[in-house]
Amino acid sequence: MLVDSFGRVATDLRVSLTDRCNLRCAYCMPPEGLDWLPKPDLLTADEIIRLVRIGVERLGITEVRFTGGEPLLRRELVEIVAATTALLPRPQVSLTTNGIGLSRLAEPLARAGLDRVNVSLDTLDRDVFVRLAHRDRLGDVLDGLMAADGAGLRPVKVNTVLMRDINQHEAVPLLRYCLERGYELRFIEQMPLDAQHGWRREDMVTADEILGLLKDAFDLTEDDPRERGSAPAEMFLVNGGPDRVGVIGSVTRPFCGACDRVRITADGQVRNCLFATEESDLRTALRAGAPDDELAERWTAAVRGKRAGHGIDDPSFLQPARPMSAIGG
Ligand code: SAM
Ligand code: SF4
Repeated sequence: MLVDSFGRVATDLRVSLTDRCNLRCAYCMPPEGLDWLPKPDLLTADEIIRLVRIGVERLGITEVRFTGGEPLLRRELVEIVAATTALLPRPQVSLTTNGIGLSRLAEPLARAGLDRVNVSLDTLDRDVFVRLAHRDRLGDVLDGLMAADGAGLRPVKVNTVLMRDINQHEAVPLLRYCLERGYELRFIEQMPLDAQHGWRREDMVTADEILGLLKDAFDLTEDDPRERGSAPAEMFLVNGGPDRVGVIGSVTRPFCGACDRVRITADGQVRNCLFATEESDLRTALRAGAPDDELAERWTAAVRGKRAGHGIDDPSFLQPARPMSAIGG
């Protein structure tokens, strides 16, 4: 098992399949993009599948989420998902995506056994989309959402980051849009993980503010907190339920004490936290011919050293060198 020194057990593995992306969301990367990882540094599909297998078969991983960068850009995605859903004990397998290309890939992914998707959608306004993501692709995202629902990847979950003076006014319309279609919406507080290091606490739309905006239009009551477990979202019943909305207060309402996540970057580094400043290199060992036992031991050691919390409020807080797109959100 992947246990840290505080007794937390990591069972939820996030695997970044690429650091590349076809959008440029302002809270994530600059309009000109980033220097992408060189191709030889990326794990191959076989290497990814091997690490996921070790996680599931030997280390107690029960949930695998593929992310990025934009995971739909990874050519072998369907094959990687199929290999993961064939593992025993069968993990839950999901995907976090910006939705571009999902209209084509939702069916093949569902056939490969994918259980669920989270699609990021920050606005319903084409001009705001272009301003926020620097690409004119809102139509593709909405088509992708519909295709995911049509392929049975339900409940389709939607992730929204609100930014002050950009899309903050869309909290209510976005929730209405999702409720009408049976999508489950979660608002995520903006975290200091952008490549430009432009995050400022005073610019962040807080969980309290988000709830305030929603409560102007909906009756929200807290869902049973016992069902939250290690999930980061605080869930609220909308107008008495059964529809729900989630708020992930990563910064102002941290959930580090219940965290059950561990990450592998696209270049094969284990990260025990989004905000970790150290990584553990599995790729070098993997390519040097290390047996499964040794890889499992390195991975276990990497999780053991996980810190108690992200420390964003600590004066000594340092934003990690890797941006969100290269860690795997
Ligand atoms: N490209 C995919 C997408 O956008 O869904 C997957 C990768 S993206 C890094 C994963 C999630 O992280 C998205 O929902 C995105 O909105 C969120 N995200 C990115 N940067 C963030 C930040 N600085 N603070 C909070 N969430 C962020
Ligand atoms: Fe790309 Fe996702 Fe980052 Fe937006 S949040 S730039 S879609 S990786």
